[in-house]
Amino acid sequence: MELNFIIGIFGEGRVGKTCIVKRFIDNDFDEHEKTSSNADKLEKIIEIEKNVINLEIYDLPGQESFHSFAKNYIKGLNGVILVYDIITKDTFDKIDFWFKQMKENLDDNTPILLLGNKCDLTDKRVVSKEDGEKLANDKNMVFYECSAKNGINVENSINDLAKRILNQQLSKKDPKKKEETKNNKKENKKGFCQIF
Ligand code: GDP
Ligand code: MG
Repeated sequence: MELNFIIGIFGEGRVGKTCIVKRFIDNDFDEHEKTSSNADKLEKIIEIEKNVINLEIYDLPGQESFHSFAKNYIKGLNGVILVYDIITKDTFDKIDFWFKQMKENLDDNTPILLLGNKCDLTDKRVVSKEDGEKLANDKNMVFYECSAKNGINVENSINDLAKRILNQQLSKKDPKKKEETKNNKKENKKGFCQIF
């Protein structure tokens, strides 16, 4: 079966969103990554349980403009990645805000992955792994600490998210409903791309 999943990555500036996507797509890391100024859509084909899945990951720039198109944008997503970094407490505190934005616009069972990035910077850690885990448990998110710099848990965690999206879609048993969902997704995607 060939599938197309659309994933959005959110979080405060400088937490490493662009680097995470780059690590996942190109297995590369750029120390001097500039704050992105344009919305980037990146794709990668993965295989899960014999299903070929095209993952589209949207990495949004400038969160200021976020509010104007948030709803339509988020509604078209099949899964979400929320990112903080373990060396900046404020980015962790802001996860509540990002989570709320998602919940207001997504279907209830849309999988959400919470990533605590920069886990290579152990000396500078201010957010404990336990705090990350607790937040994720409370809000029913999947949780990993990761490092875009050394690659730890980047591929793992995103594959895990894709697997959950797959399972969620397969569990929609009614084939009629499945077809509707597919069409809706296509519609959403149209609106979604126009934003950019
Ligand atoms: P974004 O604004 O969330 O897209 O963040 P960027 O991907 O542009 O990264 C912001 C800064 O954090 C850059 O200087 C990166 O080099 C750095 N960075 C990103 N991920 C990591 C990581 O896992 N470890 C370390 N040490 N630095 C990282
Ligand atoms: Mg960026």
